[in-house]
Formats: sequence, C-alpha cells, structure tokens
Amino acid sequence: MDSDNRKIWLNGQFVLVKDAKINVLAPTSQFGANVFEGIRGYWDEEQGQLYLFRLKDHYKRLFQSIKLFRMGMPYTAEECEEYCKEIIRVNKYREDIAVRQTVFVEGFGSWYSKEPVGMFIAPIAKKRKEVPLTRGVRGCVSSWERISDSSMSPKAKVGANYINSRMAQLEALDGGYDSAIFMNRQGKIAEGPGSCIFIVRDGVLVTPPITASILESITRDTILTLVKEVLHLPIEIRDIDRTELYICDEAFLCGSAAEVTPILVIDAYLVGDGTVGGITRKIHQTYLDAALGRIGIGDGWLTPVYG
Ligand code: PMP
Repeated sequence: MDSDNRKIWLNGQFVLVKDAKINVLAPTSQFGANVFEGIRGYWDEEQGQLYLFRLKDHYKRLFQSIKLFRMGMPYTAEECEEYCKEIIRVNKYREDIAVRQTVFVEGFGSWYSKEPVGMFIAPIAKKRKEVPLTRGVRGCVSSWERISDSSMSPKAKVGANYINSRMAQLEALDGGYDSAIFMNRQGKIAEGPGSCIFIVRDGVLVTPPITASILESITRDTILTLVKEVLHLPIEIRDIDRTELYICDEAFLCGSAAEVTPILVIDAYLVGDGTVGGITRKIHQTYLDAALGRIGIGDGWLTPVYG
C-alpha cells in the first residue's frame, strides 16, 4: 500500500494520511504534548492471520502515560483496541506492520492544557528482522544524560521526552555511530534513545532495573519472561557500569521497533568478537516465535486482527 492511499483512524473517522489535519497551534504541535505507543503486528502466512503483539499491555502503558501526564481521555482501552483492529482491516494489511497510537492535546491551549484531547491510530507496513540475525549496530555512550523521574519521567511515553533521545541520537550519528546508549544521573547505564539494553556476561543476561531511568519496555519484559520460562538462562536485573559494556560478551537493544538489535561495537570497543552472539540470536528467534504464537507462552500476548 502506498502512503497516499493509506488511511488512519483520527477522532473517530477513517481518513487518508494526506487529509489528516492537526491544528498547528495545538499543544501537541508546539510542545510535544502527546503520549503514544508503538505497537507491532506480525503476519502469519500459514494461518492467514495478523497478530498484534501485547496490545493490551501497550494500552495499559498508554493509560499510565495519560495518568502521569494529567490528560483527559475520551475513550476506554477496550474501545481503543477495537479501533486499532478496525483501521488495520480498513487498510487490508496482510503483512508485518507497526502501529503508531497517539493521544494528543488539541485546540488552542498552552503547554499545560489538559483538553481537548484527540487521538489517531496509524498503521504502516514494517518488516520484521528475519532469523537468523546477521547484522548489528555500532553504539556509543552518549555525553547527554537520560531524563530522570525527577524531571521528565522516562516512564511516561510522552512526545516531548524524545527531544532527549534526539540529542543523543544525532550526536551518535554525527560521530559515525548507529545508536546512542544513555547513562542516567547516577552514572549507570540506562537505555537507548528508543530501546532498552541487555548485555551478556559469562552466560548471564544483565539488564538495568526499571528505576534506572528507562521506559518500562514491553519487549524487555517479554525477553525476561522468555529467558526465564523458555530458554532457562540466568538473569540479573541490576545497575550496569559503563565499563561492563566494553568487556561484555554480547549486547543488544530491544524494543517494539528495534525487536532484538545486536550491538557489535561500543565506543570503538568490539563487543565479544564483534559478530552477532549466540545468546542474542537465540533470544531474537524465541521473540519472533512468541510474537507469532509458535510457543505457548504469554497469556493474552496475541490479538488476532481478522476473523
Ligand atoms: N525505551 C524507549 C525510550 C523507547 O522509546 C522504547 C520504544 N517504545 C523502548 C524503550 C522499548 O519499549 P517497548 O519494548 O515497549 O517498545
């Protein structure tokens, strides 16, 4: 589907992307006064079904962001789920997709306005990373500190938070890297600009705790569940020192968009031997298996769109 003919759900209407209008003076346009979710859907060719991955958990987090951000919200989570499935069906997607689900402050208010609130749901085609993973990224520890719970909480998935991500990511790209890695105010490793981080040391999977200035990532939670219940590997949820990134055996970013993204170089140090590690590969494969319902795990993780 070309983008001109793609429709989004906007305030109860199905509209072509090019016809979707938001007030330029609205708090969302001027100040990033919006909360959002990025949701993935995986097409299962054999079953002729599109599965949205952990849809309920994404709406749970969206409503947490709305609460933290003190916004109004005219719809229930159940209504949102229905609208989300509906707009995917309207577009007749039969491929892997990513859905941008955004709730925003409209009207002529200011940065502290709570209402009026608008909502859009915009699915686009987005291919999965295929098994086996062969490519990775070059990461660098950012000179920018991750936003913290005492200023702009990374727990709320607010549009304006991504200015912090933008500063770090552009610094990384301009320095010849592919992704930034943030440290938090305590000088410990936090997360990527749009993803969480795991490292592997001597066969143990390590990831920072949710109090380390990170988004409460659904993919991070999925991986922790899969590693515990399917792969049976040891896990440590604890602070990670910067230098551990330089001596770890494997490292990867994770997120609904990033899925499992190996990090092969960090600040010019090779991670392991500089190729995609075995544990990272196994986790990626298990993640996709879970997203396609091929392993019986994760109650309510899959929401079918058709039928
Ligand atoms: N951290 C940040 C800052 C993000 O933007 C994302 C992407 N939503 C993640 C982590 C990963 O979260 P999730 O696994 O829920 O997509």
